[in-house]
Amino acid sequence: RGDPRLQGISKAIRVVPDFPIPGIMFQDITTLLLDHKAFKDTVDIFVDRYRDMGISVVAGIEARGFVFGPSIALAIGAKFVPLRKPNKLPGEVISEAYVLEYGTDRLEMHVGAIEPGERALVIDDLVATGGTLSAAVRLLERMGAEVVECACVVGLPEGQRRLDGKPLYILVEPR
Ligand code: AMP
Repeated sequence: RGDPRLQGISKAIRVVPDFPIPGIMFQDITTLLLDHKAFKDTVDIFVDRYRDMGISVVAGIEARGFVFGPSIALAIGAKFVPLRKPNKLPGEVISEAYVLEYGTDRLEMHVGAIEPGERALVIDDLVATGGTLSAAVRLLERMGAEVVECACVVGLPEGQRRLDGKPLYILVEPR
């Protein structure tokens, strides 16, 4: 929390009120990606945390988990597994539904992407209720992986709610 890089990361994230619907304070990480130092600091902080934790799988949630996940995976010597929205993956998949503010959605993962017993990190840009992360955790655990932690750049204080005790690591709170 006392890391001086966090302030720069927080400031580089643009807040867009009422997007995509009224009442949402959208945390836009595309402006973070335009700021080389803030982008690199973000990846570096995750890499420093996870490099010696025996993680062999980084699972990224579509779409913004794909922005951070592969860089972290390459740096810590892990593979990257995309967790995708329905009907995007061409191979055999398993699927988990999760609750959104209005309705439900699903995440899918390729069968065979991971072996039982692998240690996994789940990454996304932001956790709000934790519903999306919890679906990701269920997918990995159904395949026999051990989910070591979930990690997000931005986290709402209530982000832990649907995570059922699974550790959650966040860099900054929304502004
Ligand atoms: P949740 O499942 O409630 O934790 O919602 C997290 C998912 O919704 C993540 O994939 C985020 O990218 C997206 N999301 C939710 N709220 C916001 C927000 N205020 N700004 C940007 N993305 C959001």
